[in-house]
Amino acid sequence: MSEVYDIAILGAGPAGISAAIYAARAKMNTLWLDKQFAQGGQILNTYEVDNYPGLPGISGMDLGEAMGEHAAKLGIESVRENVLAVEDAGEEKIIRTKKNEYRARTVILACGASHRRLGIPGEEELSGVGVSYCATCDGAFFKDKTAVVVGGGNMAVEDAIFLSRICKKVYLVHRRDELRADEILQESLTADGNVEVIWNSVAVEIQGEECVTGLRIRNVQDNTESVINTDGVFIAVGIIPNTEKFSGLVKLDESGYIIAGEEGITQTPGIFAAGDIRTKMLRQVVTAVSDGANAVTSAHNYLIRQR
Ligand code: NAP
Repeated sequence: MSEVYDIAILGAGPAGISAAIYAARAKMNTLWLDKQFAQGGQILNTYEVDNYPGLPGISGMDLGEAMGEHAAKLGIESVRENVLAVEDAGEEKIIRTKKNEYRARTVILACGASHRRLGIPGEEELSGVGVSYCATCDGAFFKDKTAVVVGGGNMAVEDAIFLSRICKKVYLVHRRDELRADEILQESLTADGNVEVIWNSVAVEIQGEECVTGLRIRNVQDNTESVINTDGVFIAVGIIPNTEKFSGLVKLDESGYIIAGEEGITQTPGIFAAGDIRTKMLRQVVTAVSDGANAVTSAHNYLIRQR
């Protein structure tokens, strides 16, 4: 009979790392899985995290590394395996990966979210040759070139600011006449002078043969179309939760987020959710780490009640 863990933590973004730290400190017999080698999840794609208390301006990469090292110091490291499915077998939960089948009495789902796609012609075909979802990863390829960012949230505005320091010209294409991004970011957006915001417009086609050469946009007010000549298109139109594999395990809301409150308790006994994957008001590093701690506390209480 294989080992039955007290807790299995799926994901090594800020929520998963925080959960691992709390589980290690609670001396729980813990299994920790993540498909990536590096720890940090989405923050690894973030140039600068400027709103995590005590660490102003830290790079996402450094923050992820520091959090991972903190967990390692407590003797816990994530195992690199992609989880294919989790099955609720009552008191035990079965976690299936390509190579293994694990058993745990509680599971914390902290698998985060992925970039939403636009679903327009050229997006998939030119991905990696001008189409990118990560300015901090790919921005350097566009030195002194032109880039377009699509979106109006924090991510889009941060990407535009980041690219404006590298590129000759940056366009920010947003579907409304008002940005969703925080005011402080909006102020920095126009500071360098080479960012132009194109309002009320949606991307309809990414053009190019071997690499991106242009973006066709449509003005939603008068329906006119035009082409922006560009070398790169950075898509930052939000995130979608990584819950596909868990749709039969836990209850999801209409946007696919796991229905769970601050305590991380889902409608499936023994299964908890933490971080961007759950229904919540604010998806930030600071709320993700708090979720990890809460979910472990809930799992711990659940195990006590089961005894
Ligand atoms: P977001 O806040 O959901 O914003 C997505 C943006 O994309 C919105 O402006 C939205 O337009 C637009 N959009 C969505 N679908 C679109 C489509 N099909 N075509 C065109 N535009 C579309 O997403 P995010 O900026 O990726 O951020 C994700 C989460 O991470 C947020 O909770 C955000 O606050 C957080 N985050 C925080 C920081 C920070 O605090 N420093 C940095 C990055 C991200 P509408 O405005 O019209 O809806």
